Amino acid sequence: MLMIICDGLSDRPVKLFDHKTPLQAAKRPAMNSIAKRGMSGMMDVIAPGVVPGSDTAHLALFGYDPYTAYTGRGPIEAAGAGLKMSKGDVAFRCNFATVDPSMNVTDRRAGRIKSGTDELSKLLSGLKIEDVEVAFKEGSEHRCVLVFKGPGLDHRVSEVDPHTEGEVLVSKPLVPEATKTARILNEFVSESYRRLDAASINTKRRKDGLPPANIVLPRGAGSLGNLDSMPERYGLKCAGVAGVTLVKGICRMVGMDVPDVPGATGGLDTDYLSKGGSALKLLDSHDFVFVNVKAGDVAGHDGDFMKKVEIIESIDSMLELILRELHEDVVIAVTADHSTPVDVRDHSADPVPVMIAGGGSRMDSVKEFDEVSAASGGLGRIRGRDLLPIMLGMADRAKKFGA
Ligand code: ZN
Ligand code: ZN
Repeated sequence: MLMIICDGLSDRPVKLFDHKTPLQAAKRPAMNSIAKRGMSGMMDVIAPGVVPGSDTAHLALFGYDPYTAYTGRGPIEAAGAGLKMSKGDVAFRCNFATVDPSMNVTDRRAGRIKSGTDELSKLLSGLKIEDVEVAFKEGSEHRCVLVFKGPGLDHRVSEVDPHTEGEVLVSKPLVPEATKTARILNEFVSESYRRLDAASINTKRRKDGLPPANIVLPRGAGSLGNLDSMPERYGLKCAGVAGVTLVKGICRMVGMDVPDVPGATGGLDTDYLSKGGSALKLLDSHDFVFVNVKAGDVAGHDGDFMKKVEIIESIDSMLELILRELHEDVVIAVTADHSTPVDVRDHSADPVPVMIAGGGSRMDSVKEFDEVSAASGGLGRIRGRDLLPIMLGMADRAKKFGA
């Protein structure tokens, strides 16, 4: 099975371009050939009228209920940074920041610190507070991630990050079960100040006139809840090909193998053919391969119609390469994680076109892949969570319910 997500692909009719969407305006022979030999439909990725984030959308596309599987950005960022999480752990995304001695934040990003954060992380990773172990890792610039491992933790705590200059807040439990976590979090933040403020890197930064990275401000607390990995849930060996860290993090969080693909950047210059080639190779060793191509979303946020058309045509050449090699038994789905209309310059609640071909797929009368043609297809209107089960059915991998 192969699932290709064109991030932010779908759009609205644009007056200036003859009321076409970028997808309708693009030359897309490979997409159309998939539509011709398979089934099309429309998909509300989360639910009708809900504007999806890329994170919640991808969880839905992998078959999870985003309302229970998504508790905060922490676990996704932790997985993206390569920190392993188990059920019961609580993860946070954090910033290295600068505070004065009375704990007022003077720079939330510690001057966008460029180097030395690996050394600072070593001062915090492995720390033990009560019976809770601390895993900590630096990310790019001032970004870092934090995982608490231990009994009796709960992610429902209030934030310590004031999100602006001002006093560091004291975390409070939002439910009685989170009392311990709030206490550990407050202790961690104080301890981060004690350890980092005295670090030699910060002595040097002060000397150089730079703001010291002398505290960690965690936010976006989340846990894995009852989330089973995709291999546990579906019995599938899964792999993900993505350029952007957020999507890579989600793939790792749900238990996919995430190889590094040369040239896959997640930006406008991403190497489409290299992504397509990697996906084909991964299909030899995995039951389910997922590909995210981010660039269409970027063009949507930029409000650039012609750029979006160009990107769709590049994605189409990637698909052409894949189709040349792909066995007809392999179930392939092509869709988007949400619409990012160029006139909106942000995500919208508009449903996305989806098509599935290969395996036991039926053939409907739809011959083109776009927001209008897909609406008359045999898949009808589905939700994001339905996509993977439908693919499993077409691949003869669905389980019988009853006798
Ligand atoms: Zn997205
Ligand atoms: Zn976006």
